[in-house]
Amino acid sequence: MARQEVIKKYAVFGNPIEHSMSPLIHEYFAKNLKINLSYVPILGSLGKFEKEAKIFLENGGSGFNVTLPFKEDAFKLAETKSKIARITGSVNTISIKNGVIHGDNTDGIGFVKDMKNNIEYDFNDKKILVVGAGGAAMGVIPSILNENPSELKIYNRTFEKAKSLSDSFENIGPVEAVSQDKIHKHNFDLIINATSIGINNIKFELSRKILNTETVCYDMSYGKISNSFKMWSNENNLKFHDGLGMLLEQAAESFYIWELQRPVITEELKNNLKLRL
Ligand code: NAP
Repeated sequence: MARQEVIKKYAVFGNPIEHSMSPLIHEYFAKNLKINLSYVPILGSLGKFEKEAKIFLENGGSGFNVTLPFKEDAFKLAETKSKIARITGSVNTISIKNGVIHGDNTDGIGFVKDMKNNIEYDFNDKKILVVGAGGAAMGVIPSILNENPSELKIYNRTFEKAKSLSDSFENIGPVEAVSQDKIHKHNFDLIINATSIGINNIKFELSRKILNTETVCYDMSYGKISNSFKMWSNENNLKFHDGLGMLLEQAAESFYIWELQRPVITEELKNNLKLRL
C-alpha cells in the first residue's frame, strides 16, 4: 500500500483576516521549493486566541503567523521566545521547537532586509524618524537601532506611547520620543510611517522643516493604505517606498523558521501581490 504523504499545516491568525496576502505568499514559496504544505487564513475570535491557537496546533498545525490584533497574545502563548520577540514583547511567528510552542518576530528583520538588500539603504549614522508607536513601530525599532543610526526619534499622536516605547528601547541605542512642539527642530534622513492613518484615508501631515536633502520615506503599509503618506512624500519630492517588500521579507523569514529552506522572492510573486492590492 502506498504511504500517504503528510502535508504540513500552517496558518495566519488575525481579525480581520480576509485581505491577508500571507496564504498567497507562503503557497508560492512552497510551490517553488516543491514543498507540499497548506497555509490557511483563520479569523481569530477576540479574547479566544489562546484556545483557538492551541486547537490548531493540537489538530496537527506545524506553526502559524499572527497579525493584528493577536501579536501580544501570541507572545503570551509562546513557551519559549527568540531574543527579538522578548525585546519587542510581540510574536508574529509560532513554531514548534523541541516539542514546545516557540515565538519569534520577523517584522524587524523583514524591514531591515527590505531596506538594505532591496532598497540598498545604509542605516549607519542616519537620522531616523518613526511616526507611530503601535505594534508596527515596536516590532521594527530594535532592529533599526542595531544598524547604528546616529539617532532614532519616535513621534506619535499620543506622546506618552512614544515615550514609553523609547524608554523600553533606550538600552539598545540612541532613541528618544519627540513631541509635536519640538519636532520641527530636527531633520531626518529617513522617515518611516508606522501609523495606521491610511486605513481611514486621513491626510498625513508633518512640518516640512524636518526634511533635508537626503530624506527618504518608507511606509510600512502598502496598497491604498499607503496613499496618504505617499501623497505627502510626493508633495515634497521625496523618494518613497511602501511596505510590500517588508511583507515579503518577513514572510520569507517565517518560512525559513518552519521549513529551514530559504524561499526566493521573485518578480512574479511581487506582481501577483500587486494585482491583489
Ligand atoms: P496599531 O498598533 O493599531 O498602531 C497604530 C498607530 O497609528 C498608533 O501609533 C496610532 O497612534 C497611530 N494612529 C492611528 N490613527 C491615527 C491618526 N488619525 N492620527 C495619527 N496617528 C494615528 O497598528 P500597527 O500594528 O502598529 O500597524 C500600523 C500599520 O503598519 C498598519 O497599516 C499595518 O498594516 C502596517 N504593518 C505592515 C507590516 C508589513 O509587513 N509591511 C507589518 C506590520 C504592520 P495612537 O498611539 O495615538 O493611537
